[in-house]
Amino acid sequence: MSGACDHSGTHSGATRYLREAGQLRLVVVCDDCGGECGEITRVDYLPHPALTAPSAGAAALTDPLARG
Ligand SMILES: [Zn+2]
Repeated sequence: MSGACDHSGTHSGATRYLREAGQLRLVVVCDDCGGECGEITRVDYLPHPALTAPSAGAAALTDPLARG
């Protein structure tokens, strides 16, 4: 269907992480074809080591507040 969509339907926001640039692109994508319709902005973004470390995820799973 490439090239057949005129992006006249509904759209959604999406983000694309640019690893080399250390940025997040905020874009608008077409719900029909998934193609990008435009870029809203870019924001500087670098993943925080504490949020991506395996130990952080394990701690979240064993959070006593989550056990009820
Ligand atoms: Zn489209």
